[in-house]
Amino acid sequence: THFGFETIEEALKEQKVAGVFSSVASSYDTMNDLMSLGIHRLWKDHFIRNLNPGRNPLTSNTAQEKGWNILDIAGGTGDIAFGMLDHASTINNDAHTKVTVADINPQMLAEGRKRALATPYARSDRLRFVEANAEKLDMIPDNSIDLYTVAFGIRNFTHKDVALREAYRVLKPGGVFACLEFSKVRNPVFDAIYKRWSFSAIPLIGQLVAGDRDSYQYLVESIERFPSQTEFRDMIKDAGFMIPGQGWEDLTDGIAAIHKGVKP
Ligand code: SAM
Repeated sequence: THFGFETIEEALKEQKVAGVFSSVASSYDTMNDLMSLGIHRLWKDHFIRNLNPGRNPLTSNTAQEKGWNILDIAGGTGDIAFGMLDHASTINNDAHTKVTVADINPQMLAEGRKRALATPYARSDRLRFVEANAEKLDMIPDNSIDLYTVAFGIRNFTHKDVALREAYRVLKPGGVFACLEFSKVRNPVFDAIYKRWSFSAIPLIGQLVAGDRDSYQYLVESIERFPSQTEFRDMIKDAGFMIPGQGWEDLTDGIAAIHKGVKP
């Protein structure tokens, strides 16, 4: 099908994804550093700055007077959520913006909660963690979210089209869907080097660092199977979103990309 990128049987896949993230929750930063050659931290910073979360005194309107209501899906360890709250507070002088971190995996959420203790948000009502599948966000009302973010998560979803429709449902009109994900490298020479790196070195390093070759092999394959920039943009469009500009921004020649959609 248009969305059928999965090569393994679906139920098995969900189990496998759960297994991958349970087994990597503790060695999570190492994994991201390996997968992105250490650059994921810069991409995340760029993602957050570019979205500029929080009430901006210069552009503030009444709808956002009380700060933004942000939903960070597949937000496990909380990186994006903490960054959004820091940005809203320090750059936009906004102490109201809230983030709900949703993740399907309780171990990732536990890691996120643990890390939250080192932030000013742990005991505030600006941050909450919920266990949820991106494809079925029953606890999130229609038209309630200003910004929906998903970073390095959507390629693991079984039904990406269903998750995109849920994103559309929960966003307010004018709300923004923003996705940071591994994508397709543009330059063929760089691509050849990158593929060689990811297919041979990463599973090996996974084995050596985390004692888990299979999970790292799965992660490399999931990046390979994920749709191209234009295909993914079209999926976002098919879910009902308006596409701003060309619809995405390549990072590091397309190793990752930021896709956006706006709910009309
Ligand atoms: N967003 C975080 C970041 O960038 O650091 C975590 C990314 S981690 C690579 C992928 C996360 O997706 C895992 O925490 C996993 O549990 C979560 N996940 C996978 N399938 C999901 C689903 N269907 N619904 C919600 N979360 C899911």
